[in-house]
Amino acid sequence: MSMVLVVSEIREGQLKKVNQEVYTAARQLADSLNLSAATVLVGSGLDSFAEAPAQFGIEAIYLVEDAQFEKFSPDAFAATVAEVIQQKSPSVVLMGATAMGKDVMPRVAQKVGSTLAQDVIRFRVENGDIVFTRPMFAGKIWADVKIQSSPKMATLRPKAVRPEEKAVQAKVENLSISVPKPLAVVEEVRTSGGGKLDVTEADIIVAGGRGMKAPENWHLIEGLAEVLGAAVGASRAVVDAGWRPHGEQVGQTGKTVSPTLYIACGISGAIQHLAGMLSSKYIVAINKDPDAPIFKVADYGIVGDVFEVLPKLTEEIKKLKSE
Ligand SMILES: Cc1cc2nc3c(=O)[nH]c(=O)nc-3n(C[C@H](O)[C@H](O)[C@H](O)COP(=O)(O)OP(=O)(O)OC[C@H]3O[C@@H](n4cnc5c(N)ncnc54)[C@H](O)[C@@H]3O)c2cc1C
Repeated sequence: MSMVLVVSEIREGQLKKVNQEVYTAARQLADSLNLSAATVLVGSGLDSFAEAPAQFGIEAIYLVEDAQFEKFSPDAFAATVAEVIQQKSPSVVLMGATAMGKDVMPRVAQKVGSTLAQDVIRFRVENGDIVFTRPMFAGKIWADVKIQSSPKMATLRPKAVRPEEKAVQAKVENLSISVPKPLAVVEEVRTSGGGKLDVTEADIIVAGGRGMKAPENWHLIEGLAEVLGAAVGASRAVVDAGWRPHGEQVGQTGKTVSPTLYIACGISGAIQHLAGMLSSKYIVAINKDPDAPIFKVADYGIVGDVFEVLPKLTEEIKKLKSE
């Protein structure tokens, strides 16, 4: 029986949280298509990660252990995954649409001669075939894509699938792959997050735009984010102005997010901003201009001044939480 294969992502010695979502998607597809669900872990010191995928219904765990991967190399990683695909012949290959997934999977698709649906936000099985839904043209349209070549390959946008635990007995297999010499390696990753919750991993995001007027007013955004356990996001206008770090930017040239709740404060809703947040489950907009485009996509809108609304909202939520 062929399989749905997940390419697991390990970063800074951790199995990234997005893997749980991709394992869940693989399990769902495997059940619908009568396939098995497997994953490949590429790196060094992999034994400690071998049990986690089985909690999400992954039955076969392939390990490609090579000390060379202490430093990430997109080309060597992609060549290794491509060889695993040649060995195991999966019907479907999935990975998270993270920075690493978006870098590696097009290379893998090229090497195995197949096609990739990038940044998928939904999928379904129709007449035995998978239909992947992905935003195109900066989110202006959502396209349904069927892949004709084999294996069918896709990256899934973080937060697009809710992780569901389904513990199974997994078989662990060490694969023998001749890992090629890397052409390029990542020497250092510098993050500006300072340990804060990243927008791509958050369930709730409170984002601020130029309507916040000045960086010293960001305590209002951070105050609401804190009571909600949310991450802080920003529009490009405020990032370009140097008010907020680029790591918080949401949109076409920033990060793509799919939280359950996105609260846009003083953000007009330019198409390039919407491109990064339109797949949020619920969108709340606070803007003093009733004609601001953000209201066209908002599930709930507050026409008002952020300097009045934000303190009240934060206070009310604090009260509700203490009751
Ligand atoms: C190639 C390209 C890529 C881009 N990529 C991105 C991207 O990744 N992300 C992104 O965000 N943008 C991106 N942009 C920029 C985008 O076009 C907009 O310029 C930007 O999103 C506007 O940011 P903003 O909504 O914060 O500011 P503005 O458009 O200035 O909107 C401010 C809003 O605040 C409201 N407001 C003002 N005062 C208050 C108040 N007191 N209370 C409540 N509301 C108030 C106003 O009514 C207005 O709607 C890109 C542009 C280009 C050309």
